[in-house]
Amino acid sequence: MSTAVETFGLTKRYRRVDALRSVDLTVPEGTVCGFLGPNGAGKTTTMRILMGLVRPTQGSARVLGNAVTGDDVAVRARVGYLSQDPAFYPRFRVRDVLRFVARRFLSGSRAQIETSVDEALELVGLTDRADRRVKALSGGERQRLGIGQAVIGRPDLLILDEPSVGLDPEGRFQVLGLIDGLRGRMTIFYSSHILDDVQRIADHIVMLDRGEIVDQGPMERFLGTGATYRVVLDGDTGGAGLAPLRALPWVRELTHLGNGGWEVAVTDQSAAERELLRTVHRLSGAVVRELRPLMRSLEEVYLGVLEGRNDDRAS
Ligand code: ATP
Repeated sequence: MSTAVETFGLTKRYRRVDALRSVDLTVPEGTVCGFLGPNGAGKTTTMRILMGLVRPTQGSARVLGNAVTGDDVAVRARVGYLSQDPAFYPRFRVRDVLRFVARRFLSGSRAQIETSVDEALELVGLTDRADRRVKALSGGERQRLGIGQAVIGRPDLLILDEPSVGLDPEGRFQVLGLIDGLRGRMTIFYSSHILDDVQRIADHIVMLDRGEIVDQGPMERFLGTGATYRVVLDGDTGGAGLAPLRALPWVRELTHLGNGGWEVAVTDQSAAERELLRTVHRLSGAVVRELRPLMRSLEEVYLGVLEGRNDDRAS
């Protein structure tokens, strides 16, 4: 799989702060990649380096196959960016904001620019707000306008720095839907503290803490699908009911939860998928009300990872 973003030993030192320490991260092309980390972890700094707005102290980065040099206009035209605090002239109308950005970054006739503006309005669902002044927009609409100005050049990579911050549930929902709608059209690299949202929408994760990569990889790896199954039988069969499962070579651990509930940890997922339901039914003779792989939440994984790091530091 090719990569949309890659960094090599990326390091940024401010006068007293090591904002990034030898960060090697990868964002695979075509993914929606969630960029996680506590306040001050270095997410904004990373994104600003990728945009050529900040120079690294050491290390380098490649964006869409090109080295980031800070003034590479050709690559910049293929990257859309929404900063953490996008500033708009409050008296501008929505259409004028997009027109302003389009004139600056796109080439083409006046009519082509207008078409791009209309398409961006449509894409972010602001067509009926086109003549409103920015100051009259809700938080969610303003953020959608920010995404609109970032996608107006139909970029191959979209970098969004906390696009949902400060939004109410409806605004968050809108932004999430918008990102989901862009999936497949461009690679999306976005930072967020709202782990539920990230879990819902991202297919790849990069975790940063105090300037260091903690972990990164496909979402399935973090959620650990399939290693443990929850089984619920109709009526409690008592503690012995499924005990013979323990003797099977692909069963690692069996836990009786009471009320007909069991957890079966397995070493071989395909064996479990072939055999588990049949075996449970044969052993218990009961109706199997539920049988499903247990998923961890991204929040559990994330907090677990950070806690582990804090413990390591304390010891
Ligand atoms: P948040 O989630 O709070 O936005 P973040 O992960 O985006 O945090 P950064 O904004 O990249 O983190 O900050 C990383 C560290 O670098 C912090 O300690 C911050 O105070 C410091 N820092 C960032 N910009 C500067 C700067 N211009 N001068 C000095 N220190 C800075």
